[in-house]
Amino acid sequence: MKKTINKKSILTVLLAVMLMLSVVACGSKKEDTAKEKETEAKKETEEKTEKETEEKTEKEAETEKSADATTGKALEDGVLDLGTNAAFPPYEFYEGEKIVGIDPEIAQAVADHLGYKLKIHDMEFANIIASIESGKVDGGIAGMTVTEERLESVNFSNSYATGIQSIIVTLDSDIEGPDDLAGKKIGTQFGTTGDFYAQDDFGEDNVQSFDKGADAVVALNAGKVDAVIIDNEPAKSFAAANDNLKVLETNYAVEDYAIALTKTNDALLTEVNEALTALRENGKLQEIIDKYIKAE
Ligand code: GLN
Repeated sequence: MKKTINKKSILTVLLAVMLMLSVVACGSKKEDTAKEKETEAKKETEEKTEKETEEKTEKEAETEKSADATTGKALEDGVLDLGTNAAFPPYEFYEGEKIVGIDPEIAQAVADHLGYKLKIHDMEFANIIASIESGKVDGGIAGMTVTEERLESVNFSNSYATGIQSIIVTLDSDIEGPDDLAGKKIGTQFGTTGDFYAQDDFGEDNVQSFDKGADAVVALNAGKVDAVIIDNEPAKSFAAANDNLKVLETNYAVEDYAIALTKTNDALLTEVNEALTALRENGKLQEIIDKYIKAE
């Protein structure tokens, strides 16, 4: 009995020890897992923080980069106000309520580059220069041709596109080029270079100017004028919309389009030119033009 008891107690002790050991083992295993988990989580957090810092640094670098470009100090209110005449496709026209086209997109890219907000003001083309002079707007972007006369009133940025003055006639017209315009009735858009050249070359009496290019085209369709002199891209748009009209191959004049800017802020001119150069170099300028003017 004693023996049995002894055996039993030994067994009990052994069992108890085994149980304890297993508990301890289990516990330490649990502890280990918890520790591992903690280390893992710590590592993860560290990695995340590292990533965040990296992202932040990238963002900071970007901000710094645009801060570099943001020589945008010339305009105290941080808003680039530009006048346009949104009846000049594909440079500027309405798509629903929105003014779209080459010029607004270039203006937006310039403003973005300089860290300015952009505000486009739609007005008569002939009022743009006066609005710049009176300080209503900082400048104008409107397929505007650089001329000596305008340079007396405004600064011009470097040119961003070439403009051509074209002649639109009816399909059955005998007018084949500028030489045939002598003695004919010519329709133009008031205050544009086409209007000025036509008056100089063919006499005021032979030129009828309209507020809108589209109105000159209506007059041509109605037989009230024999030809319309207007910039080539809108000319192509107008002719495409009128089966009865064609644009002559012969150019009447070749000119440079640029952004007109107030003469009272030379720093703005420097900034806009710097932005245009950057947009030319990174291909953005050409991308915008190609979006609206498809190669023929
Ligand atoms: N390029 C022409 C000019 O500057 C016409 C511009 C326009 O009508 N938007 O006079």
